[in-house]
Amino acid sequence: MKIPVASNFIQEIIVSDLNSGKRSEVHTRFPPEPNGYLHIGHAKSIYLNFTTAAKYNGKTNLRFDDTNPAKEEVEYVDSIRDDVHWLGFDWEDREFYASDYYGKLYYFAEQLILMGKAYICELQGEAVREYRGTLTEAGKNSPWRDRPVQESLDLFRRMRAGEFDEGAYFLRAKIDMAHPNMNMRDPAMYRIKKESHHRTGDQWCIYPMYDFAHPLSDWIEGITHSICTLEFEAHRPLYDWFLETLGLENRPQQIEFARLNLSYTMMSKRRLLELVQSQVVMGWDDPRMPTISGLRRRGYSPSSIREFCERIGVAKADSMVDVNLLYFCIREELNASAMRVMAVLDPIKVIIDNWEEGHFEEIEVENNPNDESAGSRKILFGKELYIESSDFMEDPPKKYHRLFVGGVVRLKGAYVITCQSVVKDSDGNIKELHCTYDPQSKSGSNPNAVRVRGTIQWVSASHAVDAEVRLFDHLFAVENPQDTSEGETWTDFINPNSMIVKNAKLEPSLKGATPESRYQFMRLGYFCLDSKDSSPENLVFNRTVELKDTWGKIQKKS
Ligand code: ATP
Ligand code: MG
Repeated sequence: MKIPVASNFIQEIIVSDLNSGKRSEVHTRFPPEPNGYLHIGHAKSIYLNFTTAAKYNGKTNLRFDDTNPAKEEVEYVDSIRDDVHWLGFDWEDREFYASDYYGKLYYFAEQLILMGKAYICELQGEAVREYRGTLTEAGKNSPWRDRPVQESLDLFRRMRAGEFDEGAYFLRAKIDMAHPNMNMRDPAMYRIKKESHHRTGDQWCIYPMYDFAHPLSDWIEGITHSICTLEFEAHRPLYDWFLETLGLENRPQQIEFARLNLSYTMMSKRRLLELVQSQVVMGWDDPRMPTISGLRRRGYSPSSIREFCERIGVAKADSMVDVNLLYFCIREELNASAMRVMAVLDPIKVIIDNWEEGHFEEIEVENNPNDESAGSRKILFGKELYIESSDFMEDPPKKYHRLFVGGVVRLKGAYVITCQSVVKDSDGNIKELHCTYDPQSKSGSNPNAVRVRGTIQWVSASHAVDAEVRLFDHLFAVENPQDTSEGETWTDFINPNSMIVKNAKLEPSLKGATPESRYQFMRLGYFCLDSKDSSPENLVFNRTVELKDTWGKIQKKS
C-alpha cells in the first residue's frame, strides 16, 4: 500500500512507524469511561481515532474503560454505543471492556509482585499522600516497600478473596519514591472496593487503577497508537514502565493531543452530571447540553459534527475554540438542505379588510431556493393571518421597512398589504391590525407590480397549527465558566435565560414533521422537531441555530 501523506503530527508519527517497519498496520481505540454521556469533546476524540485509523487502512476498537464500579452504569454504556454509531463510526465486532481483562490484569499484577516490582502497602489515606512528597520534595519509601515477595503475593491473593476491608491494603508498583515525575512514585495498581460491577457483578472485590489497566488493555488489543489527551502526558512514562517491566513486545505508542475546549461551554462529565441532577437542564440530552445526544436533539446532524471536528484539527497545545464555529458548521449544512417554512413566534393578528370572508387562495412557495429539486408547496392565504409582532411598530424609526399605520409590506409569496388601523384591548395591548391588500401585487404574477422594501412571513389564522417553540442561548453566561475567581464557583455562571419558550403559530405543513427533521423557519433560524416532548397533538420544536452568521463575519474581519 502507498502510505498516505501525513496531515498532522499524529499522522507523522504513524507514517514514520509504518515507514521504519516498526509497525505494519494501524490500530486505534476510543476508550470512554461509562460514567456519563459523551460530549462534543469526545466527538473530537472519536473522530480522530476512527478517521486516523481509516486513513491508514487500519481499525478502531470501542473499549469501555470500566474500572470504577462505583460510578458506572449500563445506561451510559448504551448511550455511548448509540452516540458513536450516530456519529457515523463503526467498531464492527471490536467492542471491548476493560472488565473483560480483569483476569489477565490480575495475572500481570502477580507477575510484577513475583518480579519484585510491586508490593502490598498498608499506608492509609493521609499517610500515602505524606509519603509521596511534593513536586519540589522527594517522597519517602513506604515501610512496607521491602516486604518479602511471598508475603505480598499472599496478601494480594487474600485481598482478592475478600478477606480485608476497603483501604486496609493496596497493591503498588515499586519504582522510585524520589522520581521527579510524581506518577512514578510507587503508584497504586489495585485497591479493594466492595462494589458490584455492572458487568462482572460480585466476582471481584479488588479493582485495577486506570494507569495500570489502560496500557495493558491497549496491549492486549494490539493497539498500535494510543491517542489520548494532554493530561496523560505525564502518565506516559508509567504507561511505558508497566509494559517494559512485564517484557511485552509490540508496545503501543501513546500520543497526546490537546483536548477540545469550547467557549460558553462546560465539558467535564462530572459537572454535566451535576447539571442533570440539580435539574438545571432537562436531562443529559437537553438541547442546551454539549453532549452528543443533546446536540442531536437540538437538531445537529452527524455530518455537521464531523465537519466541526475536521475544521478544528489537532494540536499539541490547549486552546479554546469559539462555539460560533460549531454553529457555523450546522448552519452551512442546513442552509443548503433545510426546507423553508413560515412560522410566527409572537403572533399578532392581521385582518385584511378588503378580502372576502371565507375565501382562500392557494399560494405556491419554494421549498428551498438553494435547491430546485426540493420543489414547492401550496399554502392557503385568507382574510385572517398572523404575523410576527415585532414586524409592526406604532412609532417606527426612519427607514423601518415593515408595518406601521400607513406602512406597506409584502407578505412572503403573497400580496402587498397596507396597515390601516390598530385595534387594542381594554389594557392597551394590540389585539389586531386592520390592513388592505393590493390585488395587483401577487408575488411573481406581475413584473410591474409595486415594489416594497420589506417582506415578512405570515401564517393563515384558520390553518395555523399551534406549537411550543424553544429558543436557546448559551448554558453559561461567560466565555470560560471554568475560570473562576475567589468566592465564585462555575455554577454562578449558569445563564438563567438559556431557554425561552414561545407559543407559536406554524404553517400547517409542519403538522407532518417527523423527529429530527430540520427546517428553516423563515427569518427565525433553523428548527427541528423535539424527539422527546413532541407529539402530534402538542408539537414541540427546538431552535438549532439562528440565521445570522457571526463566525463567517469574524473570519472575514481577521
Ligand atoms: P471528562 O473530563 O469530560 O469527564 P474524560 O476524559 O474523563 O472526560 P473519558 O470517558 O475518560 O472521559 O474519555 C474518553 C476519551 O475521550 C479519552 O481518550 C479522552 O482523552 C477523550 N476526551 C475527553 N474529553 C475530551 C475533550 N474535551 N477533547 C478531546 N478528547 C476528549
Ligand atoms: Mg477519564
